[in-house]
Amino acid sequence: MTVEFISVGTEILLGNIVNTNAAYLSEQCAALGLSCFHQSVVGDNEERLDEAVRKALSRSDILILSGGLGPTKDDLTKEVVAKVFGKELYEDGRTKERIQDYFRRVHSDQVTPNNWKQAMVPEGAKVVDNHNGTAPGLILEENGKTVILLPGPPNEIKPMFERDIAPYLNELQPEGIYSKMVKICSIGESKAETMVADLMDEQTNPTIAPYAKTGEVHFRVTAKASDEEVAEQLFAPLLEELSRRFGDKIYTTREEVTLEAAIVSLLEEKKMTMTTAESCTGGLLAGRITNVPGASNVYKEGYITYSNDAKERLLGVKRETLVQYGAVSPQTAKEMARGAAKAAGADAALSVTGIAGPGGGTPEKPVGLVYVGCYVKGHVRVEEFHFTGNRDKNREFAVARALTLLREELLGTK
Ligand code: ATP
Ligand code: MG
Repeated sequence: MTVEFISVGTEILLGNIVNTNAAYLSEQCAALGLSCFHQSVVGDNEERLDEAVRKALSRSDILILSGGLGPTKDDLTKEVVAKVFGKELYEDGRTKERIQDYFRRVHSDQVTPNNWKQAMVPEGAKVVDNHNGTAPGLILEENGKTVILLPGPPNEIKPMFERDIAPYLNELQPEGIYSKMVKICSIGESKAETMVADLMDEQTNPTIAPYAKTGEVHFRVTAKASDEEVAEQLFAPLLEELSRRFGDKIYTTREEVTLEAAIVSLLEEKKMTMTTAESCTGGLLAGRITNVPGASNVYKEGYITYSNDAKERLLGVKRETLVQYGAVSPQTAKEMARGAAKAAGADAALSVTGIAGPGGGTPEKPVGLVYVGCYVKGHVRVEEFHFTGNRDKNREFAVARALTLLREELLGTK
């Protein structure tokens, strides 16, 4: 079944508000297994809305409109849809009571006569209660087409969708969409894609699609199935095949697990602690690690050593090293990692030193040159990277590479 969205509101067209409802509805409907090929935005204008509704109904099974259900004159979604279907509006008693109730609960003195406009519904429409506002949702079924009208405010549309619309759509289209995110590190995007090219060519159900992510490769594996158990059965052979090809470069198949979360779990399993010593990333790496709930089990302290003096004082980097090789050098990265582990009494340490840009580059040490040091139980590995992005991207990549390096060292793999 196909679904189409129309977001109603001149303020969306003008860019005054961002069309988050469209993103929300797209995601929800995709998860319900509905195919969406068209979305549009129409201002608060009767003729153009009329035209958009007719056009949508000519090509899609389900049309969802958001916005324009309010009490004011410019709110005309319901009126236009009723006209397209040739339906009269009548006052729905229960909705009127709900609106009265709502005003009693929240701001009883603010009810004005135009609020009762929201109790007017098209004949034959199913009325969906709004538990967070006054405008009810409406469902119209006509000639094999379904039109769903939802309020514009996100705090109204979301609970209404979850509570009443999703179950309704689920009955119209019982097959759902299930997906896994196969997350891979320690391998470049193009190489990874080449390694699954044949699987992508022959895909039907499940399908596999690459997702770009800084320093990682993600493949979304999606199946259409009647329930989760059936989906798992469909996933199994493909996941096994991916696991044969990528081995422990796959750090998770769960959407919600991040690389840093996988590393925190790995450290917990090994009963190890870690620390960080950062120069050009200025705490971004520590930020990623401490974003993980429960990181405090493995991460006690870290260091932002931006200046040479700080590298000497906090990490014990030797002055000769800094003078002879410079702050951005494999030697410094190595001493930073070792020094941080010692200072924090940690089993593992990551260090980052580099030139994030835009200034500070030289022919020998250009912008984007970054050294990452990784200390694990007495041994330090240092890697050199040449990033080509702007300051933000270079720092982001450095953090991603550092995390990957630590994971590799913890697993004892290259
Ligand atoms: P109201 O009763 O508040 O008038 P409504 O159903 O008539 O609600 P609109 O008037 O179109 O909806 O929009 C009300 C508010 O809802 C907007 O000011 C905006 O904050 C939010 N909103 C509307 N449409 C969208 C959208 N597509 N994406 C995100 N927010 C939206
Ligand atoms: Mg409105």
